[in-house]
Amino acid sequence: MSIVMDGEALSLKIQEELKLRLKNCMIRPSVAVIQVGNDPASDSYIKRKEKACNSVGIYFRHYKFDEDTPELTIINKIKELNNDEYVNGILVQLPLPARYNEKRILNSISNSKDVDGLTDINTGRMINGRKTLVPCTPLGVMRILKEYEIPLEGKHVVIVGRSKLVGRPLSTLMLAENATVTICHSKTVDLKSFTTQADVLVCAVGIPKLITEDMVKEGAVVIDVGINRVDNKLCGDVDFEKVSKKASHITPVPKGMGPMTVAMLLENIVTCYENKPATK
Ligand code: NAD
Repeated sequence: MSIVMDGEALSLKIQEELKLRLKNCMIRPSVAVIQVGNDPASDSYIKRKEKACNSVGIYFRHYKFDEDTPELTIINKIKELNNDEYVNGILVQLPLPARYNEKRILNSISNSKDVDGLTDINTGRMINGRKTLVPCTPLGVMRILKEYEIPLEGKHVVIVGRSKLVGRPLSTLMLAENATVTICHSKTVDLKSFTTQADVLVCAVGIPKLITEDMVKEGAVVIDVGINRVDNKLCGDVDFEKVSKKASHITPVPKGMGPMTVAMLLENIVTCYENKPATK
């Protein structure tokens, strides 16, 4: 039976650390969240972020736009927030409705306030090994592996999913730890031939039970980033019940990478604040 890596407990521990970091600050950090449309999943993610921000003392501003708002109106709001000295961090809740140019909107965020680490400049900095803001989910994966003292150097890390939010940035962070990295995706032929080689297997796809026990090496570390809803219950991309009998460590869904992602967002906001404290 594997060790279940408790993302919720670690997230709460990180929140306590952040409270301490902010203890002597006269002015609270603040974050602005831009939402476009009425996606219920986005509503619930934003509520979770707001709750976590409140718990560590980060001031939370929520700007919600109708789905028919012109793109320029959104970009102008972001530019206004870029110039607002009271705002430390800005994020755009994804996904945006399909008609918007996501790249253009994300790239209008100031690089120094880009708490999701998604502007082209911050992505380039990360790839070049420079200190920068890094997307929260990959950061959370690295943090939980560190907490459980999982060695990465020389290990074979297989990442299933190549999104710019998870798989791609995670591959860069893993390479920086001297892991050997394989990225699989929707066009990969014979996925199992790769996943069974993994010392550390990360799955970020969005297909329930994509990873079954026969796809996992005995003693592997399994990180399940996926969030799916089946019969009104949350589950990941990994068949937890069966894979947990084979893996040495595994993250659950819920209470795994979801809370870790939120904790890393808080950390990024506090980093932005420490780099440039708001004036009020
Ligand atoms: P995405 O849709 O942008 O990317 C999905 C990736 O999966 C793509 O790279 C695609 O090539 C790959 N893929 C699709 N079908 C596949 C298959 N059959 N075999 C192998 N690869 C396949 O999604 P995303 O934004 O990276 O999110 C992935 C999942 O992670 C979703 O369930 C999402 O809800 C979840 N997620 C969770 C968190 C968190 O906080 N835990 C954060 C971000 C995303």
